[in-house]
Amino acid sequence: MIIQTQAIVLQIRPWSRTSHMVTWLTPEHGKIVTAVKGACRPKSAFLGQYDLFYTCDLLFYRREHDGVHAIRECAPLVLREPLRRAWRAAAAAAYLVDLTARVAFGHQDAAPLFELLTRTLDRLADAPPDAPRELILWYETHLLQRLGLLPDLTTCPYCHTPDRPWLRFSLPSGRFLCQHLAHGQPGEASLSLHRDVQALFRVLCQSAEPFPGAQVSADFASKKNHIQPNLILGLSRFLGMFIAFHLDVPSAVRRVTFEMLDTTPTQKPALLENS
Ligand SMILES: [Zn+2]
Repeated sequence: MIIQTQAIVLQIRPWSRTSHMVTWLTPEHGKIVTAVKGACRPKSAFLGQYDLFYTCDLLFYRREHDGVHAIRECAPLVLREPLRRAWRAAAAAAYLVDLTARVAFGHQDAAPLFELLTRTLDRLADAPPDAPRELILWYETHLLQRLGLLPDLTTCPYCHTPDRPWLRFSLPSGRFLCQHLAHGQPGEASLSLHRDVQALFRVLCQSAEPFPGAQVSADFASKKNHIQPNLILGLSRFLGMFIAFHLDVPSAVRRVTFEMLDTTPTQKPALLENS
């Protein structure tokens, strides 16, 4: 069966001396992989037709069972050129497509995921933010939402009284530990979360536009003067642990990305971390 669809390039891997394996995200067919034979030959019809972060018009022969589909035609629709020049935005985009490639499946509807990735990559390309970390956190939050894995940060009126700024969050159950709901298992993975981080997470969840949208920043700023770096760090750590636990993705990719994007003067180069 031949299929025409829009598709975002998630990964390009070499395959033989002149060919590529290309991983795409499509709205109707989820994640697919196509072989592009002779992609690197000087006269290939595919030269310049796809690259990382492109959205393309793709025509391919679908194989019914999991496997590699055969590409027939491909033409770029959205190139997102600024990502070739703004390295911070490119590093953020590389992390987003890698994460998406790890959590998306084939042969299933991925329209919400496709729409989310499209909007976020567009935002990175059109207005490369100085600090793409917030945008990554926004993407991760809304990715979890679309996967049905959003942590539940509602508090219990009896256990989580306002005089307690730190709340204990259970990773396996995805909610705050509380005597009135399911009891935590002894030794289960948990972490402490500050109420201000919980509030920032709520803002992120409710923000429909890629964060930091002007309105969202203003809303949060009016309450907190400014978003304190330690709040962003707290939320980043929380989401990092939650994602590693529930999506089964390696944490190193995320850690290195955030180290690259760290603009504080005390940063350690990522490559020297273990020396
Ligand atoms: Zn309770």
